[in-house]
Amino acid sequence: MKCDLCNEKEASVHLTQTADGESLEIHMCEPCAAELAVDDPRGFSLAAILSALETSRRKLQNPHCTTDAES
Ligand SMILES: [Zn+2]
Repeated sequence: MKCDLCNEKEASVHLTQTADGESLEIHMCEPCAAELAVDDPRGFSLAAILSALETSRRKLQNPHCTTDAES
């Protein structure tokens, strides 16, 4: 399973947290987990991870960071 954040390395950190009644699973490689300072699965900042995930997905969708809206 690949890392959710960089989508490159193999995920070795697996976190589950329930937010707004939805169970969220996050899989990260060790470097990404270290970057987010996730060393305690019960105390990690879900907001920080979600924000990182969102940034990472935005990059994947717009790899060239184009400002042109093609719809
Ligand atoms: Zn990663």
